[in-house]
Amino acid sequence: MSKINDNVEKGALLYEGKAKKVFLTSDPGLVIIHYKDDATAFNGVKKGTITDKGKVNNRMTALIFTRLEREGIPTHLVRQLNEREQLCRKVEIVLLEVIGRNVVAGSASKRLGLPEGSEIDEPIYEICYKNDALGDPLINDSHALALKLATREELAQIYAYTDRINRILQKIFLDCGLRLIDFKFEFGRTVDGEIVLADEISPDTCRLWDSETNEKLDKDRFRRDLGGVESAYLEVIRRIEAELGSDNA
Ligand code: UDP
Repeated sequence: MSKINDNVEKGALLYEGKAKKVFLTSDPGLVIIHYKDDATAFNGVKKGTITDKGKVNNRMTALIFTRLEREGIPTHLVRQLNEREQLCRKVEIVLLEVIGRNVVAGSASKRLGLPEGSEIDEPIYEICYKNDALGDPLINDSHALALKLATREELAQIYAYTDRINRILQKIFLDCGLRLIDFKFEFGRTVDGEIVLADEISPDTCRLWDSETNEKLDKDRFRRDLGGVESAYLEVIRRIEAELGSDNA
């Protein structure tokens, strides 16, 4: 994807979300995504800013999506433009938040009655209905089909990509001294109806624990007022840059 449309121009604001802004461009098939420092938690109840989070999440997503493309996973990323922006294919977001868990934490710990950090032999995959007004409720495949959030074929594709991406990411992160505890992915549909990985992969959307100390290096430091939020994000991008930076995202 990196050769297309070298001279796109930034257009009007299309959408502003909690952590990102999306701009139209002179090419109707492309958008520019701008990463902000704004942070929210608990469905928007807790609000704040994390200095330079937008830069970390933009860079980390660009590096990881570039590596995933090399591994044969289609993504919406065209290329990183600058410290806070990336050029992406315009997609229709599938209204599902796909959550994967390699270790029990967060809401799964409460729901399953298992202490945070409990090991599981197989990853757990969950889907939530992406709907802020309803608080992104956990649903199952038959809900997704009944609500026409995705077709049966799309769901199968989404689960297959999610498992493959999880296995690729676990290895990358482990090489960085990080345990991928859990994560949230979002997928989009291209104009051709192709399912591609969209949104971001960052400490906002993954739980990442240091593999030696189990120190939390992700948004839980903000959610739970643990302090050292900025330095945790910077430590993650330092390690990912050292591991993937030579891919030249
Ligand atoms: N997550 C996310 N956005 C959401 C909900 C969850 O990125 O709206 C991520 C979260 O950072 C974690 C994983 O998905 O890595 C699982 O989150 P969980 O269901 O445990 O919810 P939480 O405890 O964060 O409310």
